[in-house]
Amino acid sequence: MKLYDACVTEFKKVIFHADDLSCFDIKKLILMNGEGNIANIKSYTICNNKVELELKDNINIKNECYISYENITKKVIYTDIFNSKEFNKIYYHDGPLGILYSKEYTIFKLWSPAASSVKLLLYMSSEPYENEKSIKHEMKEIDGVWYVLIRQNLKNMYYTFEVEVYNRINEAVDPYAKALGINGHRGYITDLLETNPRGFKNDNSPVINNFTDAILYETSIRDISIHPDSGVVNKGKFIGLCEENTFSSKGISTALNHIKELGVTHVQIMPFFDFSFHSVDEKNPQNYNWGYDPQNYNAPEGSYSTNPYEPNCRIYELKELIQTLHKNGLCVNMDVVYNHYAGEENNNFEKIFPGYYFRFNNDGSFVKGTGCENDTASERLMFRKFMIDSMIYWATEYHIDGFRVDLMGIHDVETMNLIRESLNNISSKIMLYGEGWNLGTKLPEEDKAIISNAYKMPHIGHFNDMIRDTLKGSVFNAWDTGFVSGKQYLEQQIKKCVTASINFNNYGLFQTPDQSINYVSAHDNNTLWDKLEISNGGSGFEELKKMHKLANSIVLTSQGIPFLCSGEEFCRTKNKIENSYKSPDYINRLDWERKAHFLDTFAYYKGLIKLRKEHPAFRMNDTEYLASHIEFICNTPRNVVAYILKDYANGDSWKDIIVIYNANTYPVKIHVPFGTWKQVTDVYVSGTEIIRTVTDFHLEASGISTCVYYKNN
Ligand code: CA
Repeated sequence: MKLYDACVTEFKKVIFHADDLSCFDIKKLILMNGEGNIANIKSYTICNNKVELELKDNINIKNECYISYENITKKVIYTDIFNSKEFNKIYYHDGPLGILYSKEYTIFKLWSPAASSVKLLLYMSSEPYENEKSIKHEMKEIDGVWYVLIRQNLKNMYYTFEVEVYNRINEAVDPYAKALGINGHRGYITDLLETNPRGFKNDNSPVINNFTDAILYETSIRDISIHPDSGVVNKGKFIGLCEENTFSSKGISTALNHIKELGVTHVQIMPFFDFSFHSVDEKNPQNYNWGYDPQNYNAPEGSYSTNPYEPNCRIYELKELIQTLHKNGLCVNMDVVYNHYAGEENNNFEKIFPGYYFRFNNDGSFVKGTGCENDTASERLMFRKFMIDSMIYWATEYHIDGFRVDLMGIHDVETMNLIRESLNNISSKIMLYGEGWNLGTKLPEEDKAIISNAYKMPHIGHFNDMIRDTLKGSVFNAWDTGFVSGKQYLEQQIKKCVTASINFNNYGLFQTPDQSINYVSAHDNNTLWDKLEISNGGSGFEELKKMHKLANSIVLTSQGIPFLCSGEEFCRTKNKIENSYKSPDYINRLDWERKAHFLDTFAYYKGLIKLRKEHPAFRMNDTEYLASHIEFICNTPRNVVAYILKDYANGDSWKDIIVIYNANTYPVKIHVPFGTWKQVTDVYVSGTEIIRTVTDFHLEASGISTCVYYKNN
């Protein structure tokens, strides 16, 4: 008889499957729950190839559980019991975890119902060297929470936990650690009040009324300033992006100066929580890495600070950056990566409570829907709580204005809604959006936080892959083209995208405009420029530039929330490297010399941003209102979409606005209501200034262009 899929489903119930139960003899079955501890089986039932055992006493989860039949032994996994109400009733802990510091005492709390003992280890040094012995303190347990109170001022000491679990002794970093030693190997006890720059308590975020008012700009701390000609002193550091009025040697605005000039509202910063020292060694940060491999969720990355050996420095400098961006009218959105955790088994969560924080296959192996080592389990109450606590902490301690959730589709709908609710308690202006991709993780389809469940998650945004791929072609096929690059019959799709892909007449993705993050490229995949070059071999340089501008002018004029990948505004290239997550700086950095060659494109993007910011018609926030204030113009030529934003839409100062997207290489004429139309955007110029006035019932749009006209009569 072959055993498989053995699991504890309730404290007194074990289920397993076998290939052939015809000769099954219960007397030959042994259930071991810890050394020398044979569980008492009260009764059993057989149904097809499944056996259900009812036990006399509760399974002790502090011991591993094995089932033996004749010569075969199988581990009984705890996955189901950890998801059960029974378990949560005893062990779910609602209170704060981690450390609570004061001058008089510090309280340490760690959650691990599986641990048989936990000790607090205190150190003077930030990493294991110099043969320093730790000072050990035994911790006590109440229902899975281990705690100790030390009546001493422990400021400036380092700490870890020594967890004895399933006969192993693991040293782990507190998942709630707010400050860290070099490379994140130890937590650090600090007084957070001392990490605030001057005036930080009075730091206020710029005001936005609706999420649709946001214009997102994705960048990385390193990319934005590392170029030798960036004019930034602290290149690749948090405070490099604090430097104001920086220019390249050619007098081109760079870094913060550049972002301000462009006019976006939100800077979305790629991972800046502490990521794995395997990716970037904080002692010698020569290697490049995007940082999508979290190591400590609640403290900043050390390689972005000017002194990673000084634990308060990274906190102080990140706060200084956020304060500076706020002062310059920019909100700060954080890229968070809770979907997996660096180090397959050898990570802090697994060291503290093996088998709890991740999703497991029936054979006990990690589920890898993320394509990384281990999918986390947001449906488990204590990981859900961890995610919520973590985001609340960043929002309150660091004044973060929004969260971009990496591979959000790995998480569950309920968790995302609870995060939205918790953020609302701080401010309903904090943005929450992410990648709602449907990946093969172990979660029922209806529970996944994916685009097709967007209707279950009000006011949570999703990266809109429909607009992305309609505009430029699929990201999974480099040679595929889209609307801007000559693919035919995409007019209906474009119309859908223009209306934030809202689900009108059972066709669409979203319920409200603020659910659609409109974009054509992000840090993943080829840059827009590279994609257009690869997929349009025959097109000349000027034509590619027109396609580039057409793509993002659709993003920036569509309803929803526009998103730009930094450098797009000057046709960023990564030499056609699709996944540059660990490519060198010269591939990833923003190249200010290139900007000097594409100043016309930069000016065009800038003009579109100004147009969007000054004209609320492009930022309608209500679905019904949107439906009644947009009208598509019929009988337009092929590969053309034209529409009117009408009746002073959303309080606009212009009565009627006509937007024409012409993807043909030749000019077209559109039949429109008669009037005196003022053109503000054409193929070369964009913005709000009048380029020409036409009194007619025909308007022209040149080849591969977006044209915007308005009339007030
Ligand atoms: Ca690190």
